[in-house]
Amino acid sequence: MSASPFPNALVIDGQHLATAAGTSTLVDPATEQPFTTVPIASVAEVDQAIDGAGRAFRDASWRHADPQIRADTLYRIAARIRERQEDLARIEAQNVGKPISDARAEIGAGARCFEYYAGGISRFVGETIPVSGSGFDYTLRQPVGVVAAIVPWNFPFLMACWKVAPALATGNAVVLKPASLTPLTALALGALALEAGLPAGLLQVIAGPGRVIGDHLVRHSGVRKISFTGETTTGAHILKQAADDIKRVSLELGGKSPNVIFADADLERAAATAPIAVFGNTGQDCCARSRILVERRVYAPFLEALVAATRALVIGAPLDEATQIGPMVSAGQRETVERYIALARDEGGRVVLGGDRPRSPGYYLAPTIIEGLQRDSRTCQEEIFGPVVCVQPFDSEAEAVALANDSVYGLAGSIWTRDLGRALRVARDIESGVLSVNSNSSVYQEIPFGGFKRSGFGRDLGMEAMRLYTEVKNVFVHVPAEPEEDAT
Ligand code: NAD
Repeated sequence: MSASPFPNALVIDGQHLATAAGTSTLVDPATEQPFTTVPIASVAEVDQAIDGAGRAFRDASWRHADPQIRADTLYRIAARIRERQEDLARIEAQNVGKPISDARAEIGAGARCFEYYAGGISRFVGETIPVSGSGFDYTLRQPVGVVAAIVPWNFPFLMACWKVAPALATGNAVVLKPASLTPLTALALGALALEAGLPAGLLQVIAGPGRVIGDHLVRHSGVRKISFTGETTTGAHILKQAADDIKRVSLELGGKSPNVIFADADLERAAATAPIAVFGNTGQDCCARSRILVERRVYAPFLEALVAATRALVIGAPLDEATQIGPMVSAGQRETVERYIALARDEGGRVVLGGDRPRSPGYYLAPTIIEGLQRDSRTCQEEIFGPVVCVQPFDSEAEAVALANDSVYGLAGSIWTRDLGRALRVARDIESGVLSVNSNSSVYQEIPFGGFKRSGFGRDLGMEAMRLYTEVKNVFVHVPAEPEEDAT
């Protein structure tokens, strides 16, 4: 390995492999300049990673280890992450273009994720079940086997931790594949897990293009479970690939989440918080509240307050502490979003704010607010995955719910009202996996996170995630009704 400050090796069977099929050059989204290279795994190295993970799993010293040994290992990984928090945050900020304050929080949340599942090991239990007849029945939660964890580029380290920590906690072996644009902190996680004493082979990290090595990983018969976060179309493709082997699959996919503002809400707070809820991470967030639905009688003052709060966002360099909004991840992603803004204009939308490139160099795109679109327009229906929000009026609670549900997605959503009954009714009726009332928070380590409809199935986070990586085994024990005669 070179003396580069950036991780530059795959992690397979406890070895750091820098000599792979080729390398890929990473470009800094804030400067548009190349800044480092990373190895790309060959298909043979993917096989090696899966085979090694299979051996580490079958060897059983991890899955049958004293639970305290597994917990201690996860706590040590968390401690290593915390020791390296600042380095990792700077790497993530440079690689993704995200503000350093956000990156720092995400690395800290990754450490917390390992701590949570370390603690969860002793709390994740089976059941004893009363059965008719003479017997004793209990269930065991057993690891699935080799898990392929495939993660996207928007929260690279955090998404990796969300999958790796519960999978290891429950006794599995993991092959982690980060997105090609953002492999650095996943490679770093593989290296620091080894430093923390995780036995070789239990966490393999391979980098490279999804359509080649991701596809190979998904189709490989040595993989028993696929845990995927990414686009809905990729998720659908993976689901088909997994069908023949009946692999276990969980999918965290796209979103087009509503932020529903009733006239009786604390409008000041709703407007002040709405911009970060959609433009945070430059809109590249599956939970982005990218449709703001506003009760018509407060529509005009709300829009005015939303525009003012959006103008106040600090757009800047990722490593500047004051920055709230950085560049987009790549030139290609910005072009995609710009095409949507042009489409919105063609569809009759009025760009109230933004739509342009506020800084150069860097893949910056201004937070963009659009109104006047039809509910069935592509701009209102499709996940744009950039700093664009559509604002739409409604006249009644029923219409708000209908608009909120008028989407193929169902990941997150917010409801702003002071009427408790309304909050509870609307939360019951919106078809989404994570809803918040008078808040835009969707993510807490302790709560299940995932979607309805085309936003996927299965839940990351909370104790639910431990279920994702386990099979239920039922054991029935015949118990004679009366003591049997001693045969000896
Ligand atoms: P993507 O689907 O393009 O890629 C995600 C991962 O899948 C990457 O590692 C990629 O290399 C890999 N991949 C691509 N093609 C593959 C294939 N054929 N087989 C196997 N792997 C393959 O998604 P992205 O552009 O990296 O991420 C953005 C998307 O992720 C958005 O749609 C966003 O909403 C979604 N996302 C969802 C959540 C959630 O929890 N619901 C969280 C973050 C991001």
